Amino acid sequence: MFVLGDQLNGDASAFDGFEAARDGVGLAEVAGESEHIMSTKPRTALFLAAMRHFAADLRARGRMLDYALLDEPDNTQTLGGELERLVRRRRPAKVIITEPGDYRVRRELEDTAGRLGVPLEIRPDRHFLCSGEEFARHAAGRKQLRMEYFYRELRRRHRVLLDAAGEPEGGQWNFDHDNRGSFARGGPEGVPAPLAFPPDPLTAGVIALVNRRFAQHPGDLAAFDWPVTRGQALEALRDFIVHRLPEFGRFQDAMWTNEPWLYHSRLAAALNLKLLDPREVIAAAEAAYRAGNVPLAGAEGFIRQILGWREYVRGIYWLQMPDYAEGNALGAKEALPAFYWTGGTEMACLRDAIGQTLRLGYAHHIQRLMVTGLYALLLGVRPKEICAWYLGVYVDAVEWVELPNTHGMSQYADGGLLASKPYIASGAYIERMGNACRGCRFDPAQRDGDAACPFTTLYWDFLLRHERRLAANPRMALQVKNAARLSPQDRAAVQARAGAIRANGGFPPPPEGGQLGFGLG
Ligand code: FAD
Ligand code: SF4
Repeated sequence: MFVLGDQLNGDASAFDGFEAARDGVGLAEVAGESEHIMSTKPRTALFLAAMRHFAADLRARGRMLDYALLDEPDNTQTLGGELERLVRRRRPAKVIITEPGDYRVRRELEDTAGRLGVPLEIRPDRHFLCSGEEFARHAAGRKQLRMEYFYRELRRRHRVLLDAAGEPEGGQWNFDHDNRGSFARGGPEGVPAPLAFPPDPLTAGVIALVNRRFAQHPGDLAAFDWPVTRGQALEALRDFIVHRLPEFGRFQDAMWTNEPWLYHSRLAAALNLKLLDPREVIAAAEAAYRAGNVPLAGAEGFIRQILGWREYVRGIYWLQMPDYAEGNALGAKEALPAFYWTGGTEMACLRDAIGQTLRLGYAHHIQRLMVTGLYALLLGVRPKEICAWYLGVYVDAVEWVELPNTHGMSQYADGGLLASKPYIASGAYIERMGNACRGCRFDPAQRDGDAACPFTTLYWDFLLRHERRLAANPRMALQVKNAARLSPQDRAAVQARAGAIRANGGFPPPPEGGQLGFGLG
């Protein structure tokens, strides 16, 4: 059997009927997976460290294992190439895999097996609560797909957060309105730091390897402390449920400079590597609510992310691929600004979000959606470029979850298949949700002029550029009406400044007679 780097679960379907005396396991570290998009050092290190720990566990359980190390001289550095080497060496009667999460990888393995003439048995991935077929049935005949209805269906089917009558606990399916708090002026106080997992010798070896082999890739490994085994992932889950879930809901959307984790779980990577099962994560959150340790709005908000959004985006991905990745509904044509790879910009919110992303391989959802994603959307960055960035930079990034979130939710490049409206806002939103604007030379309230916040300028420019399309969307009516009220002079001023930002590669132009922007200097 062939196990992929994001399938690190010894109970996956590919292991069903495994006979130690007859069957073997293959795993391969390949540079291609870090190079087809530019993978940051934390992302690559997490995958390799988790794979090596999983392999150690398989060996300890007496499994016959073919493990291709990254720096083996014969390593072909592609998954297809390594499957081929394995098949030629072991000459198996067939190869068994759990269905890959990514379309590209599935094709690569199918093509390789087909070319070699070896039967490939692809077994369903039981990790997810909703199979591709179930999602297709849910989608069939619906004019519009919306996460909320899908989520309700799964809540009922899996009996999650229901009362004795089978109705939603607390009489409501969704408590999103209670989950939009921001911090008082002094900022968050006493947020319990997440449990850290300092590198053991196996992980330290991976860190040295990644620093050497991928020296040119962005990112830093000095602070690497991610859980890399199932045992550690379970500890991280317990730590989150006890210490941070109680406030997760209230501050889910809040941001604060130099506070990368706040009340977030940091569990996405462990889930996506399959070190954790979503059922146990959901059950732990529900149990904490039932024990009276967590408010309903917080537990529901957290469960909705996993049972709702995570399953929903996977459903959309497999329903729509491969065409999904090709869309560009808003005709975006700008290049990704260079500061996305350095954090070198005067815009404080972007500098914070990108800086911590490169340092830690992490930013929380609102930073991804309403800072880095929002800027790319408003600027009009080509969807493929911004998707490749998101796929490369986060430790939890795998395409089945990254692509719908970026292409659909964040960039609206699917024209509204995933989200009912573009997630757009001006700098005022960022000011409300955090403190970045206090340390920024721009003013979120201004839309034109030297001090205008580039988000605010580009927000109004976005409304003007897409006026016709947005006018057809009732959820955008208010914003469209506000844009329609701009005087011709105001429109011209917004458009001139937006044009100058684009002409400057996405960097706000320097003030009249001033120095070049920080990122260019
Ligand atoms: P928490 O805030 O603690 O949330 C709990 C869990 O819910 C997460 O661990 C995750 O498993 C799940 N979750 C939350 N939101 C989503 C969502 N929108 N889609 C799917 N699952 C969700 N998530 C990834 O796992 N991989 C990605 O590559 C990825 N790319 C993203 C790109 C963009 C542009 C955006 C807007 C979001 C992306 N997300 C991605 C979703 C979300 O931002 C991350 O799951 C979350 O920030 C991870 O941090 P956390 O574990 O602390 O999550
Ligand atoms: Fe970001 Fe604008 Fe606030 Fe500066 S003023 S931090 S660019 S939102």
